Amino acid sequence: MGLIIKNVMVFDGSGSVPWGPATVIVEGDRISKLGPLDELELPEELGTGWWVIDGQGKLLMPGLVDCHVHITGSCDPDELKALKELVPHAAIRSTINARDTLEAGFTAVRDAGGGNLIDVALKQAINEGLVPGPRLQVACRGLSITGGHGDSRNGWPPEIEFKGRYVVDSPDEARRAAREQLRDGADHIKLHATGGVMSEGDLPTARGLTVEEMRAAIEEAHNVGKKTMAHAQGSTGIKNAILAGISSIEHGFYLTDEIIELMLKKDVFLVATLCAVHHIVEKGIEGGIPKYGVEKAREAKQAHLDSFLKAYKAGVKIAMGTDAATPFNCHGNNAQELELMVNAGMKPRDALVSATARGAELMGWGDRMGQVKLGFWADLILVDGNPLEDVKVLQDKRNIKLVIKGGEIQVDRR
Ligand SMILES: [Zn+2]
Repeated sequence: MGLIIKNVMVFDGSGSVPWGPATVIVEGDRISKLGPLDELELPEELGTGWWVIDGQGKLLMPGLVDCHVHITGSCDPDELKALKELVPHAAIRSTINARDTLEAGFTAVRDAGGGNLIDVALKQAINEGLVPGPRLQVACRGLSITGGHGDSRNGWPPEIEFKGRYVVDSPDEARRAAREQLRDGADHIKLHATGGVMSEGDLPTARGLTVEEMRAAIEEAHNVGKKTMAHAQGSTGIKNAILAGISSIEHGFYLTDEIIELMLKKDVFLVATLCAVHHIVEKGIEGGIPKYGVEKAREAKQAHLDSFLKAYKAGVKIAMGTDAATPFNCHGNNAQELELMVNAGMKPRDALVSATARGAELMGWGDRMGQVKLGFWADLILVDGNPLEDVKVLQDKRNIKLVIKGGEIQVDRR
């Protein structure tokens, strides 16, 4: 009982060239058979509960993976609107974000922080089948220093109380905060190692949490077998995060040769999120983005692209991430990151690997997700067009004919 997907070319996500025509058989939530099978070799009990799909020679590939989203957030640049928003409203919107992401072919995402445990509740609702959405790993609240990028009071008068913020100013506070996130349901711990773009009153180049503070939080994550991610833009903070034992550098604006060496040595991933800066620079102040954000993004853009290419050429592991929910970086448009990565100098095939097998590896699911492989989760998309020649094919949802998650057809546009 399951799915028989016949007559497809397979891009398996590992980086090898597509092969076919192939047949892929899904039983339960897993891929149980695949090969150049013809109909004669299909299960004998065909017709009793088997769903046969003719792929018509189209490309079957792993469901896409975005390793940096804020699934509860909105891509509206209006800060006041965000401030006035009721928590239940944000929760409702997060279900729409999840649906839009899945419908775009993304069957797994790694969240980089949200407030009020909406992320945890959304993950539960998706896993229970209450709402459609990708597989989700969540961070709960990111840890920041007072006045740092993750301190939501940054730029606002002190009279305003921000319930979602979490600031720590010592290793002990960081340890406690990490334990709280883990208790509340975090799959990984998010740490702010530097200042950022969309926060008034700090700088991307300024250090955030110290090595000691991050080390304490990372120790708590490792204690329960979980990974960590660092918002890290300036060189000092990036290096601090790596020395503290971080699993991935998010953004990575200013990577030095020394940092790249360290990343290679310590097997640290880069999740560049080129989309975030791209949209802020493109839409600018005219688009309603605060001036401080636009200025900081403009300043960093070229260095960021140079850092990305340098890391790629050096062989740093790169997982695709968008930072969806930064201004105009909307959920469901995640595939645009692939185009930006290719424009920055990455080969299309490597960009696709970063959004499949590599992403799965960073999520700790590299042995069960992100590849069209025997025994792996049947998270698959059927694509009209060849993204290996032009990654933009994946931006038009009409080209994504099928989205299958855990062996279940979630979207059918045939
Ligand atoms: Zn982010």
